[in-house]
Amino acid sequence: MNFGRFSSYEGFLNELEAFHGKKAPGGVLGLQMVNLAWDLLPKGILMDVICETRKCLADAIQLLTPCTVGNHWLKIVDTGRFAVVFYDKQTGEGVRISLNMEEMKRHAAVNEWFLKLVPKKEQNLQAILDGINEGGASLFNHCPVTVDPEVLKARPKVPPVICPGCKEAYPPFHGALCRGCQGVTEAYFHRRPQ
Ligand SMILES: [Zn+2]
Repeated sequence: MNFGRFSSYEGFLNELEAFHGKKAPGGVLGLQMVNLAWDLLPKGILMDVICETRKCLADAIQLLTPCTVGNHWLKIVDTGRFAVVFYDKQTGEGVRISLNMEEMKRHAAVNEWFLKLVPKKEQNLQAILDGINEGGASLFNHCPVTVDPEVLKARPKVPPVICPGCKEAYPPFHGALCRGCQGVTEAYFHRRPQ
């Protein structure tokens, strides 16, 4: 088991709590998934990641790898599934790791937590974490994948322009107006009188 920039499992778990807010079992599943990816992928590649959920899994990936949402080496494609694609950013070749729901059943505490079969106050966090670490790589399915070339394209580095609609700066390749003013991005707030 490799803990990335942490020297131990406890070190990772403490930082998960500090960063994510709690010792989330999903973060420990993430630790197992990242380790499986390191085992499966060729050594020495520059690895990018696509995470299929916005939950704790994405936070674990940011703690364990150089890939963050902010540096774009981690992208979120929110299918809502507990799955991650780890791939070579040059070739797009990689592996998709997902939960094996049949194997999960062998670890009752993990299965009950994940499927929310038991009220939270009746769950035993230590039993869940122990179950994940006992299960290890067996908890997952993995298959080789090639990421769509569109995803690999570098974002153009061009100076922002001022939107005629809102007078805020935005990337010019978004169009004649910013995405907010185009209504492409949902209107997620209403202005209140000042
Ligand atoms: Zn605008």
